[in-house]
Amino acid sequence: SDSAGDGEVYSVGIDVTYPPFEYQEGGDYKGIDIDLIHAIAEDQGFEIELEAMDFGGIIPAMQAGQLDIAIAGMSITDERKEIVDFSEPYFEAGITLVVNENNDTITRVEDLEGQTVAVKNGTSGAKWAEDNKGDYGFDTIQVSDSTSMFQEVTNGTADALIEDYPVIAYAIATDDLNLKIVGDRLNGDFYGIAVLKGENGELLQKINDGLANLRENGEYDEIINTYIEQ
Ligand code: GLN
Repeated sequence: SDSAGDGEVYSVGIDVTYPPFEYQEGGDYKGIDIDLIHAIAEDQGFEIELEAMDFGGIIPAMQAGQLDIAIAGMSITDERKEIVDFSEPYFEAGITLVVNENNDTITRVEDLEGQTVAVKNGTSGAKWAEDNKGDYGFDTIQVSDSTSMFQEVTNGTADALIEDYPVIAYAIATDDLNLKIVGDRLNGDFYGIAVLKGENGELLQKINDGLANLRENGEYDEIINTYIEQ
């Protein structure tokens, strides 16, 4: 047979509520992650099939054997490293607090006492909220996608939300959301591409080799610059 992986079709879990990394336009999936994984696949000679799902379903689907790869603006965390192996980091993100643009009472996390914070299931933002709600005295509302999370604050059901900085900065710049970012980033995590832990060393190597080649030949920068003004 061919050298392992060659011509192989890998299923890739994505979260299309996540521009500029992943979104749907007409019948097409677009964004930084989409272009990156296509470019890596092309560079390394494998095929991919994109599977859009709620972010919180991606790691479970991987564990159930339904996905080979996940690229979903997914932060590299120690907790996830118990279940998946990550590629080299490909983007610096970090989470931030967001409120309605008319809200002058919440200017930092210390102002969250008695407030309601919307978070997205399965995200590092939801984990941060779980870990810190006791200390700061806020409650959480869980939703399954970023669009719904933004609506919770736009319509006043929640007082604040936690989202990745580049995603909310892009959303505020491109849509009429009535939201604003407050305070400093709550962490400085990086995005990685995930494969199921311990079983996919060869595939992970291809992903890392592809990523390194794209960084070297300028394609990585080209992809980023297509979606984000530097
Ligand atoms: N970066 C965050 C995480 O990994 C959010 C990802 C997302 O919502 N697609 O949890």
